[in-house]
Amino acid sequence: MSDCLFCKIVEGKIPSAKVYEDDDMLAFKDIAPARPVHVLLIPKKHITSLATLAADDAGVLGRMLARANAIAVEQGSPDGFRVIINTGRVGQQEVPHLHIHIVGGPEPVGPMLKRI
Ligand code: AMP
Ligand code: ZN
Repeated sequence: MSDCLFCKIVEGKIPSAKVYEDDDMLAFKDIAPARPVHVLLIPKKHITSLATLAADDAGVLGRMLARANAIAVEQGSPDGFRVIINTGRVGQQEVPHLHIHIVGGPEPVGPMLKRI
């Protein structure tokens, strides 16, 4: 999608602080971190949100979730983390390219976050 911010990050047209990449996903630091560790993990393929998944998108989503712990540990959250996937209007999703927030840090993240 040519006008999608995160597709432009995948294509290298917009810079990002990349922390992990493989054939079907990319992880980079959130530009406005809510916690000491705050990484966004996205599929390289444009998927708008959890509300618009195709049947064959389940595989990449599973691989993304399976990668989250290693990313969190490497970024400084060795004892767990939280994943958040804001979805659509009610979920207050701001960027319409599916992304998994990985939030953590050496200390507990606190109660459910108000806004990420
Ligand atoms: P959401 O509200 O779930 O759609 O989250 C969008 C996230 O993208 C926010 O946490 C923003 O801080 C983050 N963000 C927006 N633009 C960039 C960017 N260019 N690089 C890294 N993170 C970004
Ligand atoms: Zn996109």
